[in-house]
Amino acid sequence: MPLLFCPKEIRPPDPRVALTPETARKFREMGIACAVEEGAGRAASYPDAEYEAAGCAVMSVRAEGLARADVVVGIHPLTIEDIRRLRPGVITAGFLDPFRQQETVAALAAAGITAISLELVPRTTTAQKMDALSSQASLAGYAAVLLAAMRLDKILPMMMTPAGTLQPSRILIVGVGVAGLQAIATAKRLGARVTAFDTRPVVEEQVRSLGARFLKLDLGETGQTEQGYAKELTPQQIELQRQGMAKACAESDVVITTAQVFGKPAPRLITSEMLAGMRSGSVVVDMAVNTGGNVEGSRPDEEVVLGGVRVLGAGNLAATVPHHASLAFASNIFNLLAHFWSGEAGFSYSPDDEIGRSAILCRNGKVVNERFAPPAKN
Ligand code: NAD
Repeated sequence: MPLLFCPKEIRPPDPRVALTPETARKFREMGIACAVEEGAGRAASYPDAEYEAAGCAVMSVRAEGLARADVVVGIHPLTIEDIRRLRPGVITAGFLDPFRQQETVAALAAAGITAISLELVPRTTTAQKMDALSSQASLAGYAAVLLAAMRLDKILPMMMTPAGTLQPSRILIVGVGVAGLQAIATAKRLGARVTAFDTRPVVEEQVRSLGARFLKLDLGETGQTEQGYAKELTPQQIELQRQGMAKACAESDVVITTAQVFGKPAPRLITSEMLAGMRSGSVVVDMAVNTGGNVEGSRPDEEVVLGGVRVLGAGNLAATVPHHASLAFASNIFNLLAHFWSGEAGFSYSPDDEIGRSAILCRNGKVVNERFAPPAKN
């Protein structure tokens, strides 16, 4: 029986885990034995004993698990040292961060690994159950609102008290993809007054249907790619957007930014001047901080106070709810590998398959994904 190994997340450390006892059981039924590194699920409240009860081995030596594995699953990419321990032909799946981790991509190709990048799974109906970007973004959008609520010096809902009426807080959400939509829904449930903006015009209707106000800005031609991602704005459009958002920012108690452009650094949308226009005590959550940041001065995993405004750099909020985040992630990974697994033949992939074409990064010693393949030499 082939062996699937799930190591502990170390680069960066993350409480989430890519294999749960439930998915270990399902892999076994599919003909794949599973093993986790000792303590891999502990921080997400999946203790070793639950893996053992599911028929999954618990291995105390990471290097041994890597050296014996046929399949390796993870949230973040393996270290170069880990990759060197794998046998050629091993299949690995996770967020491989291919736009920024060129060294990792090259090492995976050189080691003859079949690497599947979850960021590259197409955003189609068939692939929805494998879409870890969405499952994690949804949880992050929810967590962003709770984080902001806890750091804000006001409450979110309107409250009538004998001492007078407290007005609801105002929240501005910038970027209404999966995370932004969940942030709007969560903020509405908590009673805040919500305004949202996105450069994709199709989003306006979705914002309204959640009971929030859509901020209308005329930036000229914007639109989206075939995959539904935002098109990159010109510097002039970004400037227009900043000017248009300045008033909405100044009027908001909380601003949550989620704006991303696939494969590119995040657009810088909130400047120091805009922060200076906000009330002291307001909160800004920059969910795009890990890809460059939407907010000037935000720092990954830190809270900085700029002109009295608390700016939270929160690029990995799904990790703050690691039990559910792992459950969803592990299920995405299971569905992805099940898609490629065919009984006796094991991993099989047809070039006509859209999911494989899009998500397989390296195979047979080469970077096979067109977007990342090195240019052919003449
Ligand atoms: P994302 O993380 O790439 O970006 C977040 C949001 O930021 C997007 O809505 C984007 O339009 C917005 N944005 C970019 N630049 C901006 C700017 N300057 N100002 C304001 N907002 C800006 O997005 P995502 O959540 O990964 O979703 C990407 C697309 O994929 C969406 O169209 C979404 O509906 C679609 N999607 C489809 C499926 C499916 O069909 N199965 C599943 C998930 C997502």
